[in-house]
Amino acid sequence: MSKIILTGDRPTGKLHLGHYVGSLRRRVELQNSGEFDKIFVMIADAQALTDNADNPEKIRQNLIEVALDYLSVGIDPAKTTIFVQTQVPELTELAFYYMNLVTVSRVQRNPTVKTEIKMRNFEQSIPVGFFCYPVSQASDITAFDATVVPVGEDQAPMIELTREIVARFNHIYGPTLVEPEILLPDNAACMRLPGTDGKAKMSKSLGNCIYLSDSPKELKKKINSMYTDPEHLTIDSPGHLEGNAPFIYLDAFCRDEHFAKYLPDYANLQELKDHYTRGGLGDGTVKKLLFNILEEELAPIRERRKHYEQNIPEVFEILRKGSEEARAAAAKTLSRVRQAMRIDYFDDADLIAEQAKKYGK
Ligand code: ATP
Ligand code: MG
Repeated sequence: MSKIILTGDRPTGKLHLGHYVGSLRRRVELQNSGEFDKIFVMIADAQALTDNADNPEKIRQNLIEVALDYLSVGIDPAKTTIFVQTQVPELTELAFYYMNLVTVSRVQRNPTVKTEIKMRNFEQSIPVGFFCYPVSQASDITAFDATVVPVGEDQAPMIELTREIVARFNHIYGPTLVEPEILLPDNAACMRLPGTDGKAKMSKSLGNCIYLSDSPKELKKKINSMYTDPEHLTIDSPGHLEGNAPFIYLDAFCRDEHFAKYLPDYANLQELKDHYTRGGLGDGTVKKLLFNILEEELAPIRERRKHYEQNIPEVFEILRKGSEEARAAAAKTLSRVRQAMRIDYFDDADLIAEQAKKYGK
């Protein structure tokens, strides 16, 4: 069986460090590993419209931002098909069939959907389209016969639902769809990177993000205002690591060699943590280290972004080509699905003959 990746992001804002550690960094590694037959990366504009129906301009403006972020982290259009969800209408048709295979109560139990409904104050007025987005995600994944979906932890319930839909579809209509596997980050801090507030997940909708395109000045400001440990009042008092944003970010980003370079008094992160919990280490030192590490990671991303910012029509062309390629792949799956469901009436010689016979012709 081919090894195929499908993953994507909603164009509701620029991409941030949560996307980077949760999915983007992994995608680039997988892309460059050469182990995959096809890699599809989708800008999920249709999904973004499910909770932004009254603000299509936001989606329209952010399409290019997400594309620029992709290219600047190293997603290479020569190796990866970057496409736009709405430009592949086959996905919508698939979703419509899959909706019949899922119950309302099953979606209602989805913990990510539950959290998102709360976050958006949708309790009394959930758009039907928003409610159905997990089903639409199943169609995005299966349309490309994806075997691997590299995403953050919040997406686990979606992949689980996709697997259920695949099993149910194949059970009813015969083996047609491929069951995908989720690929989570191997580091706990990366599965659900918290925001600069140290609490909820870093999320465009919550305004607690460090963006990949933030300037060094913005980066410094955001790091300096990060939530740490409210009980760590003086340098000498013992500090706590739980919910301490700079330390969680260090868990996600730092490597031993960073210490030799930026803070040679310590051999590794564990030594720094021990000193902090013992007392005698100030937040400022930790934040400065974090700034240096993030700046090292983000500077080349920012540079590449500048290049593509000067070539916007070329970026749109990449998306157009990618969308055409994705559409061809999805059309093949859709045709298989229609055949399996036996709704390919006009190509179904048996059906035509059977009906003709029924009427004695
Ligand atoms: P929105 O607020 O519009 O939902 P978002 O910031 O949650 O935006 P998405 O576009 O929903 O971002 O997520 C895209 C991908 O990034 C998914 O694979 C998701 O798991 C991953 N991701 C998003 N935020 C984080 C995070 N804080 N930590 C780890 N992974 C994340
Ligand atoms: Mg999200």
